[in-house]
Amino acid sequence: MNDSGDKPVHMTPEEFRSAGYAAIDWLVDYLKEIEERPVTSEVVPGEVRSSLPEHAPETGEPFQNLLDDMDRIIAPGITQWQHPDFYGYFPANSSPPAVLGDLLSTGLGVNGMLWATSPAATELETHVLDWLIDLCGIPKRFHSSGAGGGVIQDSASSATLCAILAARHRINRPEEIMKLRAYVSNQAHSSAEKGLLVAGIHHQNIRLIETDENLSMCLENLEKAISEDIEAGYMPFFVMTTVGTTSSGAVDNVEEIAKLATKAGAWIHVDAAWAGSATICPEFRGILNGLDLADSYAFNPHKWMLTNFDCSAFFVADAKPLTEALSIVPEYLRNSASEAGEVIDYRDWQVPLGRRFRALKLWFVLRSYGAENIRTYIRRHVQAANWFAEQITDHPKLELSVTPSLSLVCFQHVDGDTASEQLLTTLNATQKVLLTHTRLNNKYVLRVAVGGTYTTLEHVEALMQLINEHLEI
Ligand SMILES: *Cc1c(COP(=O)(O)O)cnc(C)c1O
Repeated sequence: MNDSGDKPVHMTPEEFRSAGYAAIDWLVDYLKEIEERPVTSEVVPGEVRSSLPEHAPETGEPFQNLLDDMDRIIAPGITQWQHPDFYGYFPANSSPPAVLGDLLSTGLGVNGMLWATSPAATELETHVLDWLIDLCGIPKRFHSSGAGGGVIQDSASSATLCAILAARHRINRPEEIMKLRAYVSNQAHSSAEKGLLVAGIHHQNIRLIETDENLSMCLENLEKAISEDIEAGYMPFFVMTTVGTTSSGAVDNVEEIAKLATKAGAWIHVDAAWAGSATICPEFRGILNGLDLADSYAFNPHKWMLTNFDCSAFFVADAKPLTEALSIVPEYLRNSASEAGEVIDYRDWQVPLGRRFRALKLWFVLRSYGAENIRTYIRRHVQAANWFAEQITDHPKLELSVTPSLSLVCFQHVDGDTASEQLLTTLNATQKVLLTHTRLNNKYVLRVAVGGTYTTLEHVEALMQLINEHLEI
């Protein structure tokens, strides 16, 4: 076996420094020129792999080779999520302070599974989530000074799963799991159903509640489903309400749903993965009316609060059912701080043991922008979406599918599904924009989710112009 003799195995500090500068330069240039790139990738399946060598290199390569391949292979092979003309799905916001916070987190390389394994990782996380409570008008019952508090999950899907596990634990009938029933609207995110299945709740015990004309959960249907189930000997244990559905941005009536669910003894989880960021603006807080009746709440700063994936803020009013459900303490993790009960060990607030220091990027974002800038940022997106919605309303060939929600506009062609689908295909084929679609009230619908970090009204105006060109208007 050959080893590299006295050649250093690692980059020297000076090599690391200059490679680091080069990587940042690469990223800054990429973002500066991103609008010149097609929004979606042109590669065909297998193309990326065919440009990669079959085996890992036996000897190390100069860092510049790696950056060259970022240009040659990676950048052309990705969807440019940070492109300002990206209107698909929901945005995945990134921003300079978030990137740098995440870079430092990676460099520190800590695993914050326990308070004792990195006190600052835990305490900063608790603290910035308390900041979010103030900033977004989230009820005080979710503050860490009470029985609960916040934790950063990798995704809203994980937050929902944790809420389900806590709810299942709280009802404490392991032998009667086949009797537990969960309720979500038929517009709820697929992660609710997935989380319930993972938690051992069978399909037949997941009730998908019909929605009303606004695509919000229908209260009468929920009430009926719950009382039917109680009568038949089932136990309602979990109700999820959605504030800002993925398809259309519909908002469930949290207050009324929570009242029904509380009466039935069920856990109430509020999923505002995308819309929650908007509540940093006081004028948008109405969507969370009734949140003070909920047991848990989640929203994703990684969708619309300038903090790159992964950063989902999850709050519980009472941490006990959550930590009781998820705490398993092997001997090798025992330590005096945990045993004294003076600290939070976030491994008990999530499914995996290990965890990244994610609070750093959120802290960098909140401090670097300040609340004022973030509010302006959200408001500009909502204003641009409102402008776009007005154009659709006045349009001879297009119509709104539902009332726009915050910065999400759903619309369709007046000639029906084929024309709508064709419009989406033609727009995306230009590679100047990316829109995605959904089905609402059994109609094919185009979605424009305004929310890219660098998306402005001018971009949305250009989108409208592109649409009109294709409709020959
Ligand atoms: C995006 C979204 C989710 C899933 O978010 P992840 O963080 O990707 O798991 C859940 N619920 C709603 C309403 C969403 O919009």
